[in-house]
Amino acid sequence: RDVHDDRPQRPADAMDEKLRPQRLAEVIGQRAVAERLSIALEASRKRGEPLPHILFDGPPGLGKTTFATVLHNELGVELAMTSGPALAKNADILPYLTNASAGSILFIDEIHRLPRVVEEFIYPVMEDFRVDIVLGEGMNARTVNLPLKKFTIIGATTRSGMLSGPLRDRFQLHEHLEFYEVEELARIVAINAGKLRTTVTGDAAQELARRSRGTPRLANSRLRWVRDYAVARADGHITRPIAVDALDMQEVDVEGLDRQDRRYIETLIRVFRGGPTGVEAMAATMNVAVDTLTDEVEPYLLRREFIVRTPRGRRATEAAYLHLGLEAPEPDPP
Ligand code: ADP
Repeated sequence: RDVHDDRPQRPADAMDEKLRPQRLAEVIGQRAVAERLSIALEASRKRGEPLPHILFDGPPGLGKTTFATVLHNELGVELAMTSGPALAKNADILPYLTNASAGSILFIDEIHRLPRVVEEFIYPVMEDFRVDIVLGEGMNARTVNLPLKKFTIIGATTRSGMLSGPLRDRFQLHEHLEFYEVEELARIVAINAGKLRTTVTGDAAQELARRSRGTPRLANSRLRWVRDYAVARADGHITRPIAVDALDMQEVDVEGLDRQDRRYIETLIRVFRGGPTGVEAMAATMNVAVDTLTDEVEPYLLRREFIVRTPRGRRATEAAYLHLGLEAPEPDPP
């Protein structure tokens, strides 16, 4: 990982792997994305060619890795996984390129963190499956073209805005993942309860879905916590009252917001009088990395309209005041 990265690494989560859908038909929601991918799959199969390069963007935990895994399963091709911060120099990515078998997939997570040199190194890879390697130094330096097998690069990013234009343009498909509807998350909860060998009532699955911030990864982790709570405090069966008690205990509120989300809204309202304020000031006041706020906290608060973005910064909405049990200020006179 590069030295500029101060965020905690996403914990390697074996349980996440176990709950990941394996085939396209098992993927819940994201219908439009899934349909376009099934077209790409069919075309690739019929023409006997690799998939086009695909860029997935969207907040963490919405299925970017899942889609890459599913595409690899559907095609029965090899899949290699790496991430932007792990690729500090060209020599780090070179083995992935030379080892890629025909039609295989190379998944690069957090691709917006790829250093510029590495990014430019993969342009010819993405365009015509070759790398230009410089041998020797100074007067004696010469460039050698190394042809590669035809394969697919799948990039994932929480911030497509941070990607350079030239890199973005080299992906033929761009897919944006949105937050999930409550009904979709409830289905994911019901299916995954089965995989975790526990039982959940319909209204308990709904409650969990409502409190999962539109995010399957959170639905999974909250389901596991509720299951453990049900085993410890009851007979293991997850009912709505059990789900409510367990989530209250974790300080996940009725909107699914956690402590950090509420701290964000509180800071915006109490310290910055509801805004507008810049994200840097918010991050400094909360003592949290700017990236954490922009990638993980703000997208859902924006989606639920607890905050809005204005040219002068973030502002709390009336809904945010009400959620904290505060009185909203009179709107500014027009
Ligand atoms: P990302 O790569 O966007 O951070 P992941 O693909 O790792 O997110 O998704 C996290 C978990 O959420 C997966 O392990 C899987 O269990 C679940 N998940 C994500 N998308 C879906 C989906 N469309 N249907 C069912 N489960 C999903």
